[in-house]
Amino acid sequence: MAEILVLGAGMVGVSTALALQARGHTVSLVDRTAPGRETSFGNAGIIQAEAAEPYGLPRDLGRLLAMAMGRGNDVTWSLQGVMQMAPALWSYFRNSAPRRHAEISRTYARLTARSTADHAPLIAASGAGNLIAREGLVQLYRDRAAFEADAADAARLARDYGVRHRALSGADYRREDAALLGDPAGVIHWTDSWSCSAPGCLVHSYAKLFASRGGRLLEGDAASLGQSGTGWQVSTVAERAEAEHAVVALGPWSPTLLRRFGYRIPMIYKRGYHGHFSTSRPPLRPIVDMDNGVVAGQMQAGLRIATGAALVTRRAPADLRQLDRGRAALSDMLEIGARVDEAQWSGTRPCLPDMLPLVGAAPRHKGLWFHFGHGHQGFTLGPTTSELLADALDGQAGELAAALAPAGRV
Ligand SMILES: Cc1cc2nc3c(=O)[nH]c(=O)nc-3n(C[C@H](O)[C@H](O)[C@H](O)COP(=O)(O)OP(=O)(O)OC[C@H]3O[C@@H](n4cnc5c(N)ncnc54)[C@H](O)[C@@H]3O)c2cc1C
Repeated sequence: MAEILVLGAGMVGVSTALALQARGHTVSLVDRTAPGRETSFGNAGIIQAEAAEPYGLPRDLGRLLAMAMGRGNDVTWSLQGVMQMAPALWSYFRNSAPRRHAEISRTYARLTARSTADHAPLIAASGAGNLIAREGLVQLYRDRAAFEADAADAARLARDYGVRHRALSGADYRREDAALLGDPAGVIHWTDSWSCSAPGCLVHSYAKLFASRGGRLLEGDAASLGQSGTGWQVSTVAERAEAEHAVVALGPWSPTLLRRFGYRIPMIYKRGYHGHFSTSRPPLRPIVDMDNGVVAGQMQAGLRIATGAALVTRRAPADLRQLDRGRAALSDMLEIGARVDEAQWSGTRPCLPDMLPLVGAAPRHKGLWFHFGHGHQGFTLGPTTSELLADALDGQAGELAAALAPAGRV
């Protein structure tokens, strides 16, 4: 059994720590703040069993032009952000070609398909069942043609990957969910997905479970990571922690740390925001507003509206236009009251150009492990890819873990 440092206590790092601990390793989890306070805190909270295919970039000229001209609300960009990410975006575009995207999806679908089953024992053992709803997720359409096209695509996803759904008329769905104020053109209900009413609390519950099983939570800066003898060390508030292995699970901050060790990781940083609003009519299940690129779901803090992607530099100031537009547009379907008084949250989806997380041994450093790049679905996939990382670290990587290995990808 080995001593292991896990750097980063988001959903991915905390799940890594639990998976390695369960296999008998001695694990210390290091973060500069409390577990689950960053990207894993403010997301839409959906455990997306339906997300068999990762988000690719549009390949048809019409949709690309619409995006470039800022017509939709799901993606916005700044020139500086796009220029900074240009090589990664170009590679993302190439990986989004239909044949390549289908190949990637065959791997991705195997991850999302087991996501709820991998969360389930952690939810039970951490006593967090009260945070989870198993009601699925709905996509809501105002445009009939778009609904019909996506309903046909949902049938294809069911055939190809076994993802279950119902396609309903808006009037039928409104009879189920009395929160809707009008009849949409149609609704696709993905029945296998789960949702969480406080994503940060779920990560915190998992971290408490790790500590209750003897794991150590340390406050420290991962930037102090260095090699020591045959292993790795990091300075924490309490001590200089040393171990044979170190796992980098710093989400969007991972490339910055790894640059010091000679790795240039091309990452696409997709920023998102959320706001909480009062409502007396919360929706039965989270709603993806397909026309306006936002997700709305009831959380402990209020009705959370979470935005799509802003392709901006890491330091760009907050720009709440997507949130404001999404809120205004959704108010034809949901009662959305006053904004809850709160500090403005934003988070960055850590996306890799080939849409698959990096999971496994660093190509050029013994005892260093990569575990990041979960993009749009890190909250979903944390426990799943942690099992694969633990397999790899134990020398038991199967075919799925091999498909996510960093060798040949960075
Ligand atoms: C608006 C929005 C909505 C989303 N909705 C969903 C959803 O519904 N479902 C889903 O599956 N995913 C969703 N995602 C994506 C998901 O949130 C991320 O993929 C996931 O949170 C990434 O987890 P992580 O653990 O890799 O990163 P993080 O949660 O960011 O964790 C990284 C950790 O590293 C720590 N850290 C960073 N630098 C240092 C340092 N120098 N020293 C020490 N510690 C450090 C941070 O404090 C943090 O705790 C959404 C994302 C956004 C932005």
